[in-house]
Amino acid sequence: MSLTIGVDIGGTKVLGGVVGPDGEVLAQARRPTPAHDPTGTLIMIFDVISELIAAHPVDAIGVGAAGWIDSTRSKIMYAPNLAWRDEPLRDHIAERFNLPVVIENDANVAAWAEFRFGAARDASDSMVLYTVGTGIGSGIVLGGELVRGAFGVAAEIGHTRAVPDGQLCGCGRRGCLEQYASGSALVRYARATAQEAPDKAELLLSLANGLPQAVNGPMVTTAARQGDPAAIAAFEQIGYWLGNSMADMVQVLDPQVIVIGGGVIDAGDLLIGPAEASYRDALEARGRLPVANVLAAQMGNLAGVVGAADLARR
Ligand SMILES: [Zn+2]
Repeated sequence: MSLTIGVDIGGTKVLGGVVGPDGEVLAQARRPTPAHDPTGTLIMIFDVISELIAAHPVDAIGVGAAGWIDSTRSKIMYAPNLAWRDEPLRDHIAERFNLPVVIENDANVAAWAEFRFGAARDASDSMVLYTVGTGIGSGIVLGGELVRGAFGVAAEIGHTRAVPDGQLCGCGRRGCLEQYASGSALVRYARATAQEAPDKAELLLSLANGLPQAVNGPMVTTAARQGDPAAIAAFEQIGYWLGNSMADMVQVLDPQVIVIGGGVIDAGDLLIGPAEASYRDALEARGRLPVANVLAAQMGNLAGVVGAADLARR
């Protein structure tokens, strides 16, 4: 059986896995990411791969990283959380292990995993993935291939504009979707209600020791599950913006399936429900035309490892 390694480089950990042709993970290894030390991060990546290769001979290595990858898939041009600038990561790894290496953006890798083995595995042609976490990542598959763009940086749906002259985004623009539909936005909405209308946030405030500024994402999910009005309204708000963006993507791309993943999808229908309602509302004028179904991601924390390994296999 042909095996490949997938490595997922996050801001806090480097997670690697040996993956078979059907997406099965046969072994895992992990190290902490010394995020401000590029050389140290490379050593941790080497460590993870060495540990896996020692027990499992593999044919290729795939790497997913949170950053902008150049169009030749060899360099990380810029990684906001990893201190890498024009880092020739592919060649460093290929020279060290004498194997073919592919590198890819982390959201693209997750999209590929969902398309091949996860929520969109029954789709043969196309899919749009939103990962809703601290920010919003996204990946697009069209015609059975990842959409990478001429310069390697396509599918940044989180940085499309939701609100003209809106909230300032980390990317420098104003009004990006990420500022309205991410996990960070969820917490911002919930904190604001807890501050302004504490009677609607009693449960939420009890979880946060009475301090609106202490509210975090898991607290909002817990409180919403137990019926806290402020927490439910916060999910409705991010769902509203997410659904609007999904409708725009359908107008442009007409994909088979839309998948929502990322940490916030732990909330399940609390997020999918309002997102799908706003999505269907925004597309109502399309009448009887078919539109993509909206599904929750299924690959969880291993999406990056499995997607990177499968891209390496190709
Ligand atoms: Zn932005």
